[in-house]
Amino acid sequence: MTQRAAVRIRPETIRGLVAHARRARPREACGFLVGRGARVAFSVPVRNIARGLTRYRADPAEHLALRRALRELVPALEIVGVYHSHPRGRTWPSETDIAEALYPDWIHVIVGLAGRRAVVRAFVMTRGRVRRLAIARVSNGWSRIPGSSGA
Ligand SMILES: [Zn+2]
Repeated sequence: MTQRAAVRIRPETIRGLVAHARRARPREACGFLVGRGARVAFSVPVRNIARGLTRYRADPAEHLALRRALRELVPALEIVGVYHSHPRGRTWPSETDIAEALYPDWIHVIVGLAGRRAVVRAFVMTRGRVRRLAIARVSNGWSRIPGSSGA
């Protein structure tokens, strides 16, 4: 298995994920991470179409629309991962998260809100195995991208 560098996410993007997670409570928030490789340029919140409070499923129509929009960007960016929140419970992938992780290359960021302070962690899930990635809260080499929320 190749060793992967830390995920590079700007502090303001992390704050955006936490804010989305808090707004979505008691449900789980979800969205996509856009960038290249292990560098996240920005996040895109999407609708969680799953039922219940302990699941998420990104709206496939929004997923498709985002993929189309990203193809128009110069320089081209891609969806490098997905984020979702755990309003309660551990900041660790659930059995369902692991079972439904379809893209082995994707970075999975989980925002945990069970404690007093939000916890943000990154993982890769490959064939049922979970590995935690370090998060570097740094500028990722991109300036603000036109049309993005910057969050
Ligand atoms: Zn989960």
